[in-house]
Amino acid sequence: MELLKKKIIEEGRVLNGEILKVDSFLNHQLDIDLLNEVGKEFLRRFEKEKITKILTAEVSGIAIATIAAQYFKVPVVFAKKTESKNLDKETYEGSVYSYTKDKHYKIRVSKKYLSKEDQVLIIDDFLANGQAILGLQEIIKASGSNLVGAGIVIEKGFQPGGGMLRKNGLRIESLAIIASMDAGQLSFSE
Ligand code: 5GP
Repeated sequence: MELLKKKIIEEGRVLNGEILKVDSFLNHQLDIDLLNEVGKEFLRRFEKEKITKILTAEVSGIAIATIAAQYFKVPVVFAKKTESKNLDKETYEGSVYSYTKDKHYKIRVSKKYLSKEDQVLIIDDFLANGQAILGLQEIIKASGSNLVGAGIVIEKGFQPGGGMLRKNGLRIESLAIIASMDAGQLSFSE
């Protein structure tokens, strides 16, 4: 998606050679015009599927999933990272491994909001090692719903997540795929 790639080149900053900081439009301040275009592009790519729910993980996936959901006209469900008294007792759980913290954490969705009838699209801001998607996949599997695919805003193609998940048969549509960020220079493969 050219508009997105242009924005990443203009405003993205590479940290420690591996992390792309896009706080000015995706992860802190939100560029709603751009995110609307991202939402429309996800719809164009998944239009033929009968999506009934969009699933993401809090916090960073919520904004983009919400904007995309306006085009799909379906609800967004976000998996919660914290256990709280407000959350229903009956939940589906997934486990996510965090490379940065070197530990597993749990994400959960109330059983009320995913069912066997659902056709689920995962939407997230980044795909790196694929651990967040694996955790969401666990939740979808436990609920008996069907995972149609994943829509990703920025995939870091030099990290293993995308390859691993596609090899497992998951359809992934990434709107920008970064081939390398060596010496702070960005190059795209898509
Ligand atoms: P995973 O490694 O599980 O694919 O990525 C997990 C999460 O880490 C993503 O949903 C995203 O929130 C965050 N993340 C991974 N790499 C980056 C990055 O380069 N920049 C930013 N801003 N977030 C990232």
